[in-house]
Amino acid sequence: MAELKKCAVHTITTKAWTLAECCERYATAGFGGICVWRNAIEPIGVEAAAKIVRASGLAVPSLVRGGFFVATDKGKRAAAAEENRKCIDEAAAIGAEQVVLVVGAEPGVPLPEARRHVADGLAKLLPYAEKNKVKLAIEPLHPMYAGDRSCVNRMAEARKLCEELKNPWLGIACDVYHVWWDPDLKQEIALAGQQGTLFGFHVCDWRVNTRDLLNDRGLMGEGCIDIATIRDWVETAGFNGLNEVEIFSTELWATDQTEYLQRIATACRQHV
Ligand code: ZN
Repeated sequence: MAELKKCAVHTITTKAWTLAECCERYATAGFGGICVWRNAIEPIGVEAAAKIVRASGLAVPSLVRGGFFVATDKGKRAAAAEENRKCIDEAAAIGAEQVVLVVGAEPGVPLPEARRHVADGLAKLLPYAEKNKVKLAIEPLHPMYAGDRSCVNRMAEARKLCEELKNPWLGIACDVYHVWWDPDLKQEIALAGQQGTLFGFHVCDWRVNTRDLLNDRGLMGEGCIDIATIRDWVETAGFNGLNEVEIFSTELWATDQTEYLQRIATACRQHV
């Protein structure tokens, strides 16, 4: 059972709220941290955002999100590289430990080739991350996104990239929504712990049935993921960061967000 101080909330979870509202309300509810999505920074700019976040006293495990390294078009790859450097700048400004990376995929680009794009993009980005003291966390995404969002779908593929690039600023964000089904999950989490690459742990739940591929994630306890067991594996692997609550849900966004935050707090205590 997680204490709220050990939990952070992603701003996208309560996406109707401004960054200032998120900071104030998460802190008041007793959460220990905030994970900032770039769309929450955009309307006010990074300087104002940094002031708000730093004044809140909340820990900032992550800025979300960069990546999107895969493109046949060279110009698109260069644009992504530029955007990723901006992500790192923003993370450094708001005091975020890491940038979460959705690595990308492109219909028509075979997955092994797409992973080459990712490895090349990461190799070029890592010196900038290191210079700014911001970690990069590869987030494997569920295979339903392999066509257009992520060619890295299991912890194992993320590990292979980390092993290839071997850099202390590169690791993995483990999101239960994406990896709960993986028969090797326990072993891969343990390996990531040993290799020092377990940078982040994200929670929500897998609804049965899933009604939308993007925006139908469940509140912890609403679905079929054994979150507490995975949380144990992560702890056993030596992870001592915050549990990040990250829920995209058209249904939950439509509810009263203040009550919803209370439900999130209860779910953290009961299911994480
Ligand atoms: Zn996530």
